[in-house]
Amino acid sequence: MNFKSIEEYITQFPIYQYAFINTKDIEFSDKVRTICKRECPRYGKSWSCPPAVGSVDKCREKCMEYPQALLFSSVAEVPDYSNMDALLKTKREHEEITRKIVQHLKEEPWKCFTLSTDSCSICEKCTYPKKSCVHPELMNPCIESHGILLTKNIDDNQMDYYMGEQMVLWFSLIFFKEA
Ligand code: SF4
Repeated sequence: MNFKSIEEYITQFPIYQYAFINTKDIEFSDKVRTICKRECPRYGKSWSCPPAVGSVDKCREKCMEYPQALLFSSVAEVPDYSNMDALLKTKREHEEITRKIVQHLKEEPWKCFTLSTDSCSICEKCTYPKKSCVHPELMNPCIESHGILLTKNIDDNQMDYYMGEQMVLWFSLIFFKEA
């Protein structure tokens, strides 16, 4: 598969690092789900998080429908982690880049399934579980919600996972296949 046109397109964005990976090389683990349940305040509060996204097996099945994925990160300086507004602004910028890349891929035309960073924050208050998701076409479940452990993929592709306390790295994982 030739990814040159995708590479040419994404270089216009302030992407920090990226890699094309085979979906079969991604690790899915129930342990990630256990961590979500125990430690994430968003567990059970969003359509983009477990349990709403389904079991890890179901999530894996869905991802495996796509043989390839584009993994990319963007980086932002956040001098004060307690400044939620500043943190969310950098996340919004990353989400916007993700949205534009997905839109481009779909026009190519590729079929895509996107996981992105953190719990969805499009609406001020998520409608889960009382009403359906308000923006299913814009909402991207978070990578961890699918039980995905990216450590090995990140290492194998010489990408960074941590850049110190004043920098935030956002990741997106766009699965794609020929339409
Ligand atoms: S778009 Fe709104 S309703 Fe849907 S997951 Fe995001 S916050 Fe929840």
